[in-house]
Amino acid sequence: MILVDLFEVASLLPAEWKKECASVTRELEQASTDDERDRLLKDHSDLWREVKEKLSEASHGKCWYCESKNTRSDNAVDHYRPKGKVAEDANHSGYWWLAFDYQNYRYACTYCNSRRRHAESGSAGGKQDHFPLAVGSFRAYGPNDSVDCEEPLLLDPCSVLDVSIVWYDEEGKLALNTSMVLTDPLAMSRIDSSRVILHLDHPYTVRERKRIYLKIISLCKRADRIYKSILMGNPDLRIEYKEQLAELAQFMTRSAEYSAVARCAVRGFREASLTAKILCEAPL
Ligand SMILES: [Zn+2]
Repeated sequence: MILVDLFEVASLLPAEWKKECASVTRELEQASTDDERDRLLKDHSDLWREVKEKLSEASHGKCWYCESKNTRSDNAVDHYRPKGKVAEDANHSGYWWLAFDYQNYRYACTYCNSRRRHAESGSAGGKQDHFPLAVGSFRAYGPNDSVDCEEPLLLDPCSVLDVSIVWYDEEGKLALNTSMVLTDPLAMSRIDSSRVILHLDHPYTVRERKRIYLKIISLCKRADRIYKSILMGNPDLRIEYKEQLAELAQFMTRSAEYSAVARCAVRGFREASLTAKILCEAPL
């Protein structure tokens, strides 16, 4: 998970589209029954589908939650706060007033967004209408309640604090960035809830993350050997070393699939590898 900048998203969305969303939101606020609101949500659902490609553009085509590209999958516009109902609260009618607010949209792959079960491992997940909060947290029930007072347990790719607590270990699994644990007392609960509900440790994803992690360590070791040869009197290898650094940097750029995994691998290896240390210092 890497940060998705909502200011960038806002800059990509057409002004006319925003006006239409504001108009439908006013209609929703004036509706007097849940049925009337449900009808408005259904009648105008094209509005959020219309901007799916813009949301995808903001993340280089990657799912905002898991960084998968899944180019053959029909990704969706997820409502971070569910629009129609909340699985954890039977008395909640959903965060309908945010249904047409782009700040509540998250571009999500099918695995993160919809219920899926991996037959072989039994692992299951998918966000659907889930939006758990910390025990005792305030929950917003209408447009006059501030969602900023809520303590969500699902990690938000649009929050700097949330993406900073995410780590990936050498097995390719989601973990807690222990250096950030003091910034959020709920950090571990949030990692665990997100792992299950967003299905972030789906076996396919874990396997791919592990492959990238191992590849990074291998490339760093190779680059270190080349650097050592340069120091021992082989200056001709400087070009090769630069090429090796460039290849490693490709894995870490924002557009690369699972770039956060590559960054964790490099950061975890920086004490043992000069190449990893250089990559950590480089503003990629
Ligand atoms: Zn995903």
